[in-house]
Amino acid sequence: MTHSTSDGTAATQAETRQIKPTLLRGWRRRCPNCGSGPMFKGYLKVRDTCPNCEENLSHHRADDGPAYLTILVVGHLMAPLILVVYENFRPEPLTLATLFTVGCVAASLYLLPRFKGIVVGYQWAKRMHGFGD
Ligand SMILES: [Zn+2]
Repeated sequence: MTHSTSDGTAATQAETRQIKPTLLRGWRRRCPNCGSGPMFKGYLKVRDTCPNCEENLSHHRADDGPAYLTILVVGHLMAPLILVVYENFRPEPLTLATLFTVGCVAASLYLLPRFKGIVVGYQWAKRMHGFGD
Protein backbone atom coordinates (compact mmCIF):
# COMPACT_ATOMS: atom_id res chain seq x y z
CA MET A 1 0.00 0.00 0.00
CA THR A 2 2.84 2.38 0.81
CA HIS A 3 4.50 1.44 -2.45
CA SER A 4 1.47 2.38 -4.52
CA THR A 5 1.10 5.69 -2.61
CA SER A 6 4.77 6.42 -3.23
CA ASP A 7 4.35 5.67 -6.93
CA GLY A 8 1.22 7.81 -7.14
CA THR A 9 3.00 10.73 -5.44
CA ALA A 10 6.03 10.39 -7.71
CA ALA A 11 3.82 10.33 -10.79
CA THR A 12 1.97 13.45 -9.61
CA GLN A 13 5.21 15.33 -8.90
CA ALA A 14 6.57 14.40 -12.34
CA GLU A 15 3.49 15.93 -13.92
CA THR A 16 3.66 19.07 -11.76
CA ARG A 17 4.91 22.07 -13.69
CA GLN A 18 7.17 24.46 -11.79
CA ILE A 19 5.73 27.96 -11.49
CA LYS A 20 8.86 30.08 -10.92
CA PRO A 21 10.97 28.94 -13.91
CA THR A 22 7.88 29.09 -16.09
CA LEU A 23 7.22 32.71 -15.09
CA LEU A 24 10.87 33.60 -15.79
CA ARG A 25 10.60 31.99 -19.23
CA GLY A 26 7.45 34.02 -19.82
CA TRP A 27 9.26 37.23 -18.80
CA ARG A 28 11.96 36.37 -21.35
CA ARG A 29 9.15 35.71 -23.90
CA ARG A 30 10.22 32.10 -24.32
CA CYS A 31 8.24 28.89 -24.56
CA PRO A 32 7.02 27.83 -21.09
CA ASN A 33 7.85 24.19 -21.82
CA CYS A 34 11.42 24.29 -23.19
CA GLY A 35 12.51 27.86 -22.41
CA SER A 36 14.37 28.33 -25.70
CA GLY A 37 11.78 28.66 -28.45
CA PRO A 38 10.23 32.11 -28.94
CA MET A 39 6.69 32.42 -27.57
CA PHE A 40 5.62 35.28 -29.84
CA LYS A 41 5.38 35.75 -33.55
CA GLY A 42 5.83 39.50 -33.81
CA TYR A 43 5.18 41.81 -30.88
CA LEU A 44 2.23 40.17 -29.07
CA LYS A 45 0.92 37.31 -31.23
CA VAL A 46 1.44 34.01 -29.42
CA ARG A 47 2.61 31.21 -31.71
CA ASP A 48 0.31 28.21 -32.11
CA THR A 49 3.20 25.83 -31.41
CA CYS A 50 6.73 26.26 -30.14
CA PRO A 51 9.21 26.02 -33.06
CA ASN A 52 11.70 24.23 -30.78
CA CYS A 53 9.68 21.62 -28.84
CA GLU A 54 6.32 21.64 -30.70
CA GLU A 55 4.44 22.45 -27.44
CA ASN A 56 0.92 23.63 -28.28
CA LEU A 57 0.62 27.24 -27.09
CA SER A 58 -2.74 27.97 -28.70
CA HIS A 59 -4.63 27.19 -25.46
CA HIS A 60 -3.68 30.46 -23.81
CA ARG A 61 -6.41 32.90 -22.81
CA ALA A 62 -4.40 35.93 -21.74
CA ASP A 63 -7.13 38.37 -22.86
CA ASP A 64 -6.90 41.66 -20.92
CA GLY A 65 -4.71 40.34 -18.12
CA PRO A 66 -1.36 41.60 -19.48
CA ALA A 67 -2.81 45.04 -20.24
CA TYR A 68 -4.28 45.23 -16.73
CA LEU A 69 -0.92 44.32 -15.17
CA THR A 70 0.90 46.83 -17.37
CA ILE A 71 -1.45 49.66 -16.39
CA LEU A 72 -1.20 48.63 -12.74
CA VAL A 73 2.60 48.74 -12.69
CA VAL A 74 3.18 51.74 -14.96
CA GLY A 75 0.52 53.75 -13.14
CA HIS A 76 1.96 52.99 -9.73
CA LEU A 77 5.45 53.90 -10.92
CA MET A 78 4.64 57.04 -12.86
CA ALA A 79 2.03 58.64 -10.57
CA PRO A 80 4.38 59.11 -7.59
CA LEU A 81 7.30 59.88 -9.90
CA ILE A 82 5.47 62.74 -11.58
CA LEU A 83 4.80 64.25 -8.14
CA VAL A 84 8.44 63.90 -7.10
CA VAL A 85 9.70 65.45 -10.35
CA TYR A 86 7.22 68.30 -10.13
CA GLU A 87 7.96 69.08 -6.48
CA ASN A 88 11.75 68.92 -6.83
CA PHE A 89 12.43 70.35 -10.29
CA ARG A 90 9.33 72.37 -11.27
CA PRO A 91 9.81 71.79 -15.02
CA GLU A 92 7.73 73.59 -17.63
CA PRO A 93 4.32 71.91 -17.96
CA LEU A 94 4.94 70.96 -21.57
CA THR A 95 8.32 69.47 -20.66
CA LEU A 96 6.76 67.49 -17.81
CA ALA A 97 3.91 66.24 -20.01
CA THR A 98 6.27 65.26 -22.82
CA LEU A 99 8.66 63.51 -20.46
CA PHE A 100 6.00 61.44 -18.77
CA THR A 101 4.08 60.69 -21.96
CA VAL A 102 7.19 59.24 -23.54
CA GLY A 103 8.09 57.47 -20.29
CA CYS A 104 4.64 55.90 -19.91
CA VAL A 105 4.50 54.74 -23.53
CA ALA A 106 8.03 53.32 -23.43
CA ALA A 107 7.45 51.50 -20.13
CA SER A 108 4.12 50.12 -21.37
CA LEU A 109 5.61 48.86 -24.64
CA TYR A 110 8.46 47.23 -22.70
CA LEU A 111 6.27 45.56 -20.07
CA LEU A 112 3.23 44.45 -22.10
CA PRO A 113 4.79 41.48 -23.97
CA ARG A 114 6.68 40.41 -20.86
CA PHE A 115 3.50 40.39 -18.77
CA LYS A 116 1.74 38.50 -21.55
CA GLY A 117 4.53 35.92 -21.47
CA ILE A 118 4.10 35.62 -17.71
CA VAL A 119 0.32 35.19 -17.99
CA VAL A 120 0.65 32.55 -20.73
CA GLY A 121 3.37 30.78 -18.74
CA TYR A 122 1.22 30.80 -15.61
CA GLN A 123 -1.72 29.33 -17.51
CA TRP A 124 0.58 26.66 -18.95
CA ALA A 125 2.04 25.80 -15.54
CA LYS A 126 -1.41 25.55 -13.93
CA ARG A 127 -2.72 23.53 -16.91
CA MET A 128 -5.49 26.06 -17.53
CA HIS A 129 -7.68 26.35 -20.65
CA GLY A 130 -6.63 23.12 -22.36
CA PHE A 131 -2.93 23.23 -21.45
CA GLY A 132 -3.52 20.18 -19.24
CA ASP A 133 -4.82 17.94 -22.02
ZN1 LIG B 1 9.22 25.02 -26.56
